[in-house]
Amino acid sequence: MKPDLPDNNQNNHGITHDRAPLLDAFSRPLRDLRVSVTDRCNFRCRYCMPKDAFDRDHPFLSHDELLRFEEIDRLARIFVRLGVKKIRLTGGEPLLRRHVENLVALLSRHPIDLTLTTNASILAKKAKALRDAGLNRLTVSLDAMDDATFRMMNDVDFPLASVLSGIEAASAAGFSSIKINTVVKKGLNEHAVLPIVEHFRGTKHIVRFIEFMDVGQTNGWRMDDVVSADSLVRMINERYPIEPVSPDYRGEVARRWRFKDGRGEIGIIASVTAPFCQDCTRMRLSTNGMLFSCLFSGGGFDARALLRGDTAVDDEKIEAMLVALWHQRNDQYSVLRAQKKAVLPAQKIEMSYIGG
Ligand code: SAM
Ligand code: SF4
Ligand code: SF4
Repeated sequence: MKPDLPDNNQNNHGITHDRAPLLDAFSRPLRDLRVSVTDRCNFRCRYCMPKDAFDRDHPFLSHDELLRFEEIDRLARIFVRLGVKKIRLTGGEPLLRRHVENLVALLSRHPIDLTLTTNASILAKKAKALRDAGLNRLTVSLDAMDDATFRMMNDVDFPLASVLSGIEAASAAGFSSIKINTVVKKGLNEHAVLPIVEHFRGTKHIVRFIEFMDVGQTNGWRMDDVVSADSLVRMINERYPIEPVSPDYRGEVARRWRFKDGRGEIGIIASVTAPFCQDCTRMRLSTNGMLFSCLFSGGGFDARALLRGDTAVDDEKIEAMLVALWHQRNDQYSVLRAQKKAVLPAQKIEMSYIGG
């Protein structure tokens, strides 16, 4: 995908001087950047990297293909100039990228909210280094509170206790309020919902339940396997009465609910039954430097080619390309899916590659 160069917001050197928000074709500002730092993972969550598709023969990226930390930092600096306020490191499993804390240290120099999503399998070892390097916040994915279901969901027999000690280590390192992400898939872990609510209610950590999404080619998604936001709210409300809270900011994807007894809140991310494309302010940077403006994009823009091309490209040129890319953005796949009008790209990109 190659964007046409924009004809506004610039002088004739392609430098953006106008700091009005950069808007896409549907007037959505560019606010968030998700950076996938590895396409590899030590889990094989059934909804993300099913074992049969991500086996020993899976063609993971080679080391040379990965964006280097300095390259990520250079792009981040330009994105921040364009209005990005929040950067999330993800993957694959981001803590598997060697010395990821060095990348955190580079990115933490920008005026952004810097956060990372992890399965927490090695968080106990890494939490302090991440905090010391300047990471602001953490999200931990956790799909059950009983060991048997947890091991079944990650499908590599990984024990729950290690993840819980990772969360404890992170709290001790200064991550006071951690977001806990739980994907709910019908028939697999609906029974885990209430125990997760019970465990984290009254703590500073906030659980967000996520509808199982049709991202990628391999997870065998069916609408019948989605536990809808409405049924999650009903289930939770019957046991722990909740009431809606208004969103904090535009682009907040989780609908917030608070416990009527004052013991905190939960979030529900209804990507399938109540899509939020109208407020989607995210760009995604894959491990090998492709930029995607939607989880369901048909193709990406090769930023690495720009960075590593034969002729040196200055930041202004890259900035102009990013401006053009965002101006042309008209993605709204989930809204169209809900209206039964979505046209799927020939090849859907895997969540573990593009960064969830
Ligand atoms: N490995 C890290 C982790 O699991 O936290 C980061 C990458 S993972 C792809 C990011 C998030 O995407 C996780 O919270 C995961 O639960 C979510 N996810 C993966 N596949 C999904 C799917 N099919 N539907 C909804 N969420 C999904
Ligand atoms: Fe790995 Fe995260 Fe995907 Fe699970 S959701 S397989 S932990 S990348
Ligand atoms: Fe954003 Fe695309 Fe998801 Fe809509 S479908 S919320 S545009 S990533």
